[in-house]
Order: sequence, then C-alpha cells, then structure tokens
Amino acid sequence: MFIGSILEKVKNALQNQSCLLCQQKLFTAAQFCSSCTEKLGIREPEALIDMPFGLVHAATTFNPTVKKLIYGHKFYKRTEYIAQLTGLLIQYWETMPKYLGLSDVHPENVLVLPIPPHQGNASLIDMFASRFARHFGYDYQHDVLTWMREVRPQHRIHEKVSRFGNVAQSLRLKSGVVSGYQKIIVVDDITTTGATLLEASRAFHDEVGPTHRQQDLICLALTQVSIGSQLRSGEEEY
Ligand SMILES: [Zn+2]
Repeated sequence: MFIGSILEKVKNALQNQSCLLCQQKLFTAAQFCSSCTEKLGIREPEALIDMPFGLVHAATTFNPTVKKLIYGHKFYKRTEYIAQLTGLLIQYWETMPKYLGLSDVHPENVLVLPIPPHQGNASLIDMFASRFARHFGYDYQHDVLTWMREVRPQHRIHEKVSRFGNVAQSLRLKSGVVSGYQKIIVVDDITTTGATLLEASRAFHDEVGPTHRQQDLICLALTQVSIGSQLRSGEEEY
C-alpha cells in the first residue's frame, strides 16, 4: 500500500498539470499557480489554535475567492468546486508532514475523519475530506464521529460562549476505531472559535484517554472566519 500511495502521488503530479483555479499550466506538483495561491490565501503551516487535546489548522485565510468556493459548495451545492476545495487542503498539507514529524508515519497509520453533517443533511465535508485522504494514501472513515444530540448550526450563533455551549458533549467517537492509528486528522469546512473542533478533540480524548499527545490529533479546516464576519450575510450573497 505504501508503494500504492507513492504511485498515487506520481499520478497526481502528472495529472495535475494545470492550476485548479485559473487552469494555467503548472510545472510543479502544486494544486494552484503562485498567483492563485496568493489569491486563495493559502497559509503557511502553523497551528491557529492550540487546544489541550489537539491542534487546529486552517488551510486558508478567509477572503472573497475562498468564500465563493466554500459558500458555493455549502449553500448552493456547487459540486464543481469540490476539486478546488480538496486542492486547498492538499496544498496546505503538502508541507505539513515535515512540520509535524509525520514523515516517518506510514500513511496507513493516519486516519482522516470528517465532522459529520447535521441531521437530515448530506455530508458536504465528506466530499473533499475523502479525496484529501485518498491523495495522501491515508485511511478514511466517514462515520466514526457522530452527533450524540442535535445541535444548532454554529454559523447561526454569533456569541462565542453560546457556540461552545451549543456543541459541548455533542460528538461521539465510535469506540475501538482510532487506537491503532498514530495520527488522526479531523476535517471541517469553516472554523471560527474552534468550538466544534474542540468538541471533536474532547470526544477523541474521552476515547483514547490521557496517554495521547496533543500532536496526535490535528483538526484541519478549509478556512478560519472571524466571529461576526461570518455566514449570516454570506448565505444571501454567497
Ligand atoms: Zn492559477
């Protein structure tokens, strides 16, 4: 399988010959050309939030181009943006294995989990999280994290404290799944206060116990939106 993941990388490098945004020809294995990388606000690898049980990363700094892609996918089901959204995660993550000491970890020992959809909704995160996992040869399981109770969509809550209260004790991690892995990556679309991802890390900690290290759990969002500048207006204007 390790060979398989190397072949997959080579294949991706060969296939990905044009920028996913402007289609300009690329001569490296990147997902986007340098000007689109800048336009998309793809960040340098650095944790945004240091949580007790994990680290929160965001692939981009929020900006109009990223907003169009994320909101188009999230609210208008624009499936043609999935490739670009996956590309954002991939390009951000390319430099991460070294940064996180992940280079020595076999891809099969890394597990990617999406934040699950709210009741009755299709899983939009699954669509790019699964492709991101496949690109790196990581294991992927879409149903390991589940909601224990219904929560209000976080983007409808505009106070930091109620966001944390809204999701507290709301996620469950299927037992016995994560223990064989060295790294867990939880993928979400937008992080604001980090409340949902903090709750995911709490669920992880409850399952794994006190022995795990903070760097064993990485929460990776497409972007970080500051509180107050988020989705209420965005839902209309996209
Ligand atoms: Zn480009």
